[in-house]
Amino acid sequence: MTGQNVHQLDTSGVERILCVVAHPDDLEYGISCAVAAWTATGIAVDYLLLTAGEAGMQREPAVAGPLREKEQRAACDIVGVDDLTVLDFPDGHMEAGLPVRKAIAAHIRRRRPNIVVTSNYDINAPWGFNHVDHRITGEATGDAIRDAGNRWSFPELLDAGLAPWRAERFLVGGVSAPDVWVDVTGEPLEKGIASLEAHQVYLADLPDHPEPRDMLTAMSAETATQLGLGDQGVDNAMGFVSWDM
Ligand SMILES: [Zn+2]
Repeated sequence: MTGQNVHQLDTSGVERILCVVAHPDDLEYGISCAVAAWTATGIAVDYLLLTAGEAGMQREPAVAGPLREKEQRAACDIVGVDDLTVLDFPDGHMEAGLPVRKAIAAHIRRRRPNIVVTSNYDINAPWGFNHVDHRITGEATGDAIRDAGNRWSFPELLDAGLAPWRAERFLVGGVSAPDVWVDVTGEPLEKGIASLEAHQVYLADLPDHPEPRDMLTAMSAETATQLGLGDQGVDNAMGFVSWDM
């Protein structure tokens, strides 16, 4: 990565951003630092989670789901996210297909964001073999942006009063070769760290998990260094792959 053709994300005119991921905590591995930067400038940010993450802990799904949802609500409060929606697709057993796309498209039409964000959905993610729910959610999110803008896609949504809505941009975080970046130096990084720490019981169940502060500070500093942002006073950055939609 040389930093050439990589630019700061332009959020002028952006009023609302919708983040779509599979599980509670998926946004807290870096993306929520950018969310804190966005909400600090007055942009409304909404979260849509497709599952409650009920199969992700060493305790019964009936206990884990509500617990993780509650910790996600606390994480949202820290970075200024008011609207959190958690759907009930089955954690670990998500299947690619039209029901997932339709659920995301309906939410895009409801919330009418200018930008839609998801996390890395490659099979080979920077952290290893990517989770099936991440792969399905990320790809479906891109497709659902198109569905949301096309009146002929899921006509029952139109019948239900959800008019087509065209989001202008699709961002994917957690990537090793970003083409846009967001400055998270200072307060946004601090809030992002606190939002990961808010998944307190979940993280306590993972004894080998690195300290949120060490992990997010190193990750965001590495991005800033890779992109050569130090001479612009940017010590910490989050990178995204970006598409005009
Ligand atoms: Zn996840």
